[in-house]
Amino acid sequence: MSDGFGLDHLPYAVFSTQGSAPRVGVRHADTVVDVATVRPQLDRPTLNEFMALGPDAWAEARAEIAGLVGSDALPAYPVDDVALHLPFVVGDYVDFYASLDHASNVGRIFRPDQEPLLPNWRHLPVGYHGRAGTVVVSGTPVVRPCGQRKGPQEEMPTYGPSRRLDIEAELGFVVGVGSELGSRIGVDEFPRHVFGVVGVNDWSARDIQAWEYVPLGPFLGKSFATSVSAWVTPMAALAAARTDLPAQDPAPLPYLAGGHAFDIEVEVVLNGEVVSRPPYRTMYWSPAQMLAHLTVNGASTRTGDLFASGTISGPEPETRGSLLELSWGGKEPFAGDRTFLEDGDEVVLRYSAPGTGGGRITLGDVAGRIEPARP
Ligand code: CA
Repeated sequence: MSDGFGLDHLPYAVFSTQGSAPRVGVRHADTVVDVATVRPQLDRPTLNEFMALGPDAWAEARAEIAGLVGSDALPAYPVDDVALHLPFVVGDYVDFYASLDHASNVGRIFRPDQEPLLPNWRHLPVGYHGRAGTVVVSGTPVVRPCGQRKGPQEEMPTYGPSRRLDIEAELGFVVGVGSELGSRIGVDEFPRHVFGVVGVNDWSARDIQAWEYVPLGPFLGKSFATSVSAWVTPMAALAAARTDLPAQDPAPLPYLAGGHAFDIEVEVVLNGEVVSRPPYRTMYWSPAQMLAHLTVNGASTRTGDLFASGTISGPEPETRGSLLELSWGGKEPFAGDRTFLEDGDEVVLRYSAPGTGGGRITLGDVAGRIEPARP
């Protein structure tokens, strides 16, 4: 359990022990270290005030905390004895679509007679604004959504529980320092704004989505729940995971030039069985490009804004990050007879990356169990 939680990681969460108020803690080995006395901004029920301080303050606090964990200076609790809470107040939430393999697979499944990639895809990171108010912390149950569904062979839509409930294994980026209305964040300014990374499961009702998404994009097929990890890995802990982006052809417009990929391994675990291993390093668009695009029109950003990568899928079938792709639209069952999610299923997304200490760090996982639709 303690693997991946050494001094080169030190991810942040908001935790509480029985009868105590939620405050910020740092994971070290099998313990949650209470860092509320290190900075007044850490003695808060969210990370927002601390994240707003900016990169110099993040680095100073991180160095100070690294020198204090493992000593008697700060209280520490076994990680299994604490409750973990949503780690930050989510501002705006944007979800991108940055995997070439995922976008191509979905194109082939949803629009089999057309080019899999739409003409804009290689020119800009496609995204949409999601629902920040339904971002929930790992472990929160997910109630099967109801809505309008209309299969290709059905003449009229019907209302009822989704029959094609799915996951999307993604990575999320948390804005610490926002930007003013009318300004832009350049690709190279990413480190001044982005505090850290969370795991994201963008739960998706494919039948609701397929019927509603033309022409304005995802709506109720996505907005019922988005799960994030309780732990936020600071960008500093991912310094050794930075790697080159895949070749981008055609070359992006100048405002999108630059950025790095991150070598983060993902595991999709369905009812205890690993069913896929998506590689984040294969993502076409970098998070710095996503943030530059998100603000190129002068849209402001705020502390706590969350932008997610979109489903992470690699080129091989066993690296696909959604059940839609793993079962090829429900037509090719995987792992025996599996297609979409059943009531009672539990999905856990796990993430790991090279650490700066030479080993690997374990990012916060994202768990959720499906509860039956409510009548
Ligand atoms: Ca998504």
